Amino acid sequence: MVKPVLRIVIPCYNEEQVLPITAPMFLQKLLSLMDDGKISRRSKILFIDDGSKDSTWQIIQELSRQDSRYMGIRQSRNRGHQNAVLAGLLESKDHCDITISIDCDGQDDINAMDEMVDAYLDGCEIVYGVRSKRDTDTFFKRFTAQSFYKVLKSMGVDSVYNHADYRLVSSRVLQEFANFKEVNLFLRGMFPLVGFKSTSVYYERHERIAGKSHYPLRKMLALAFDGITSLSVKPLHLITTLGGIIAALSFIGVLWTLIVALCGSTVPGWASMTCIICFIGGVQLICLGVIGAYVGKIFLEVKQRPRYIISERTEERL
Ligand code: UDP
Ligand code: MG
Repeated sequence: MVKPVLRIVIPCYNEEQVLPITAPMFLQKLLSLMDDGKISRRSKILFIDDGSKDSTWQIIQELSRQDSRYMGIRQSRNRGHQNAVLAGLLESKDHCDITISIDCDGQDDINAMDEMVDAYLDGCEIVYGVRSKRDTDTFFKRFTAQSFYKVLKSMGVDSVYNHADYRLVSSRVLQEFANFKEVNLFLRGMFPLVGFKSTSVYYERHERIAGKSHYPLRKMLALAFDGITSLSVKPLHLITTLGGIIAALSFIGVLWTLIVALCGSTVPGWASMTCIICFIGGVQLICLGVIGAYVGKIFLEVKQRPRYIISERTEERL
């Protein structure tokens, strides 16, 4: 059997502290997979520098000079994690048989790669890395993350529970995935839409080895909202349902008003009137906001701007 060519796709943004530690760990893993006869000797590691402002790109260049198995591309500016992973995957799809995307901070257990490759050799085209437990997270992060998956599910988004962006994807899937042209990216919700045989591999997620997280609560909430509005129109249906409920309540309110008016006691009622106006005003603004989010996304989609722009590449050596 011909051994598959693997590309490990690693997004990096301002990671000068952690990259010199984790890069050799990735290479070691690649070599051990080669030695075990699971992957081809032509397999490589591709770093995507997401427009870092520190010396990350210089480190990547230096690595590629030291060992031909390290390669790097650089985005023309910072575009965010999802775009960086996309750039790496689409750049790799014609040069390998399988890709594994993983963060560069050592949080995801690289030893799960063996099992991922085994699952591919058994016929799976997508292998999701799933966190088996969240012991290293703070209570707050665990709670918000788990609520996020539940909300996603209730909104009809088919995503794998506790899976982030550590996954193996075959180039066959990537060829099809390349036809998903959307600008608003939420990769973990998009791959299940591509289909093909898939499975999950469980691993424990560690603390960051060095450096600090780029995902504060604000960015996490934005990603969650983005994921829902990119993959589901259920919020729009919910608005319609809400409108129906409020219309029904209003009808009861009108009946009540008429009865009170007919009974001749119409002067009191300032408080109830104010409450109703405030309530309806608030509901309308929320609904407008949700509709606005979709309109904004359509605005971004119709422009069809490039999803990534590569400004530099390391020299390729065979
Ligand atoms: N990252 C990126 N672009 C960004 C932010 C982050 O490429 O704008 C990369 C980062 O270098 C890391 C991965 O995305 O490899 C995940 O980021 P981080 O570890 O900060 O997020 P967390 O694990 O805390 O959610
Ligand atoms: Mg991390």
